[in-house]
Amino acid sequence: MGSLEKCDRCGGRFPAVYCYPPQGANKSLNLCKRCLEEAQAERRRQLENAVSSDPYNEEILEQLASVYSQLKNRVEQARIIAQLREAKRRRLLEAAREEKRRLEEAQAERRRLENAVSSDPYNVEILEQLASVYSQLDKRDEEAEILARLEKAKIPWLEKAVENDPQNPDLYFRLGELLIPDLSYRGNYSSSEIEKTCDAFLKAVALGLSNPISRGRAYYRLGVLKEMTPTQDLTPLGKKYLNNAIREFRLALSSNPDNVEILEHLVLVYSHQQLGKPDELAEIQARLDEAKVRKKLGSTLSSVGSHTNRSEKGISFEQKCLKLIQSMGFRAHSTKNAADGGIDIIAFSNQPLVAGKYVVQCKNWSKPVGEPIVRDLYGVVAAENANNGILISSSGFTSSAISFAVGKRLQLIDGNQLNQLSLSHQGKEVD
Ligand SMILES: [Zn+2]
Repeated sequence: MGSLEKCDRCGGRFPAVYCYPPQGANKSLNLCKRCLEEAQAERRRQLENAVSSDPYNEEILEQLASVYSQLKNRVEQARIIAQLREAKRRRLLEAAREEKRRLEEAQAERRRLENAVSSDPYNVEILEQLASVYSQLDKRDEEAEILARLEKAKIPWLEKAVENDPQNPDLYFRLGELLIPDLSYRGNYSSSEIEKTCDAFLKAVALGLSNPISRGRAYYRLGVLKEMTPTQDLTPLGKKYLNNAIREFRLALSSNPDNVEILEHLVLVYSHQQLGKPDELAEIQARLDEAKVRKKLGSTLSSVGSHTNRSEKGISFEQKCLKLIQSMGFRAHSTKNAADGGIDIIAFSNQPLVAGKYVVQCKNWSKPVGEPIVRDLYGVVAAENANNGILISSSGFTSSAISFAVGKRLQLIDGNQLNQLSLSHQGKEVD
């Protein structure tokens, strides 16, 4: 017989070898045999009470099944496991009913909004809501058509917003970005239209656009717009703008050296032959290729071992966030448009207390998302007059990002919270 141990419950001495709590019991306690049996009986009673008042709580049922397993009570264990299976079945059934109810609601909403659009075809708010309904109903073609119409509808709307808030650089930038496709679609444009577009970008940079990528893009647009003048030559001014664009993109790159988006922008700028920077073009092109390989490798590695459903392969992080938001009862659609200030998803709620518009940005990053991104989102919340800006990060946020968001119409959701939401609304983690 080994040495005697002291029981944490009754204080009695007992032989350590014989009575040490078996695995699964409270490991931090050292109990004698009698106290251990008492503790297990207590725990069983507590869990059974909990089950009788909440018979399909999966968490409690799982704990109770494990207690019966420790007690080697096979009959009760089997009964609880059967009940657990029933609880799962009920949860899935409920989710399916909920989904059906949401789709029916969306159909009714669709009829209402289609009517509204036919009498007011360029109303931005109605178009946005209709795009969300089409997205939820998986009507891709209809959604694309509405999004295209939305682009056009937003021009007068933003012009008005600029009038009301003439010191907001983000509004000018967004206006410029909307005017650009309008110019390039038509192919023919007057010099006054180019002037107007240039003006928007010039105001945006003069008023202090905060995001270096947006600043780079504004300068790039200005450089290219100078080329759209009848001479088609890169004027000294155009050249200056392109060099400014390079400076801004390089600045953005210094804190984010593998960012494919920034590198792509830089390749675009350096590709202007009249700029005469073939060496830089080659350097950045090589870095872009490398960054793309790394990105691909990273996503392949992270998907190894995860339970990726076949049909879900190839769905982007943004699409997964969109599906989650829709499953939470919001109407939502993705925006495929640079002019939306990097906004990935627009969502609406018609629930009391939270009714209104939400702008969502999704960042599938391995590094924490920093304050500049949160700041930009806050600008969009103001410009869109949204209830709230929601930033979803697959990783986390820097402390300055978190403190910036405090007390503002902003919500930061990190990878853990995202998985929690996904578990409770879709019954699975985000992979
Ligand atoms: Zn004891």
